[in-house]
Amino acid sequence: MILIVDDNRNNIYSLQKLLESKDFQVDTAESGEEALRKALKNDYALIILDVQMPGMDGFEVAESFGGYSKTKDIPIIFLSAVNTEKEFITRGYASGAIDYVTKPIDPDILLLKVKTFYNLQENSLAMKKTQQSLELEVQGRREAQVMMKSEIDHFHLMLEALPQIAFTLDSRGRVTFVNSKWYDYSASEKVFPETHPDDYCIPLEFERCRKKRKALDLELRIKNRNTGHFRFHLLRMTPVFEGKSIKNWVGTFTDIDDQKKIEKEKDEFLSIASHELKTPLTSIKAYMQLLERKLKINEENAEASYVTKALSQVEKLNSLITDLLDVSKIDNGKLKINKKRSNLDNVINSAIDTILQTHDNNVKISRHGTIPNILIPLDEIRIEQVLINFLTNAIKYSPKNNQVIVSTFVDDNEVKVSVTDFGIGIPEFKQDAVFKKFYRVEESSLHFQGMGIGLYICAEIIQQHDGTIGLSSVVGEGSTFYFTLPLN
Ligand code: ADP
Repeated sequence: MILIVDDNRNNIYSLQKLLESKDFQVDTAESGEEALRKALKNDYALIILDVQMPGMDGFEVAESFGGYSKTKDIPIIFLSAVNTEKEFITRGYASGAIDYVTKPIDPDILLLKVKTFYNLQENSLAMKKTQQSLELEVQGRREAQVMMKSEIDHFHLMLEALPQIAFTLDSRGRVTFVNSKWYDYSASEKVFPETHPDDYCIPLEFERCRKKRKALDLELRIKNRNTGHFRFHLLRMTPVFEGKSIKNWVGTFTDIDDQKKIEKEKDEFLSIASHELKTPLTSIKAYMQLLERKLKINEENAEASYVTKALSQVEKLNSLITDLLDVSKIDNGKLKINKKRSNLDNVINSAIDTILQTHDNNVKISRHGTIPNILIPLDEIRIEQVLINFLTNAIKYSPKNNQVIVSTFVDDNEVKVSVTDFGIGIPEFKQDAVFKKFYRVEESSLHFQGMGIGLYICAEIIQQHDGTIGLSSVVGEGSTFYFTLPLN
């Protein structure tokens, strides 16, 4: 908008018409005081100011515009009929005018000037706005940077407070922060702690995980710089994602050395106890079998049936101790598998027979699928042990249903054997854990006897056959446990 300031209404009228005919928006003021008031209130792109006015003259008005930040940059064109001398024109420019036009006015020339100054002012206003928004953005970014820095500081303080060794890496795997506990195990923040020669190499393992964009979880021994001893630690390195890309990694070393020692002592105790229990138990079993035979020679009597019952309990005890022995063999890497080419079908049938003989008549085991008459490299006793375990569990954890299905499926590379029951099932988030040592599903552990080691042994046996083991299950509907074996 353009402001015309003139004490003469006729002058204002004709100038206003001229400008409005060219689509300019126009406002008017009849005195310097009114002009100042309006200029402080509204936004004008240009002021056309008459020099000769009663009260404040044009020069005074322009000078007072210069005193306010809102008005000081508005371009002013002076209009003057009288003061054409150089001195007045100079004063006009000194008081802030950008042009000085003398009357009589040539409308075309005035319009050209107005257009030019108007556009210039519009452009400079637009530039000012852009500058202001840029300044705002820069300020916003500066504030965000300060905030981010304080967040990072806070995060580092939290890592410092952890009882573990904690560190961060950038997306390319370079260490960017270590807490003070790091220096108990490494002299420099650039170098990972020294690992035991028999354990994993951290940079190699990390590189593998970085390529796969997966977290790293390792148990290894690292050397304490103060004592010179290696201590077991659990190393965890987790990627922090920003959208789909990895922003950085957060890592911790948790000292599990004491836990490991206790675990080792427990394993040793288990190993010794199961060995020592096994020998007298074998003798008890043998003597009881002799006694049973002797008592049964003449006729069926109560004593004989008591001995038979006692023998079946001895058998249970024997298999518990055998399982415990197997666990200690696995822990010591001594569970041996003797593979030879065998007929899997016979192994499955033998396992089913054993189960049918040792359980009551209500149990129904049906078979689905066939296995071609080929020989597969396997340890018959151990695979039968896996099947007996699956079948025993299928019956044990199905108190209201006695149906069990054994299915087999063969393709070019492997054979899959699965055992399905219609029992209590296992919640999904606990399904992976059932293959862990001593793990029992909490919900069922109170109602069913067991030690939680059967499936752990099964997993080890199948792993040593280069096969896979797994399950699918729905709570209240039943479970299917399976294993696969490679054909060659
Ligand atoms: P145990 O049966 O002696 O506890 P296992 O290692 O054989 O030990 O099984 C581990 C756990 O897995 C069991 O305690 C039980 O909670 C669960 N489980 C195994 N088989 C089944 C099944 N067929 N149905 C439901 N739960 C099962």
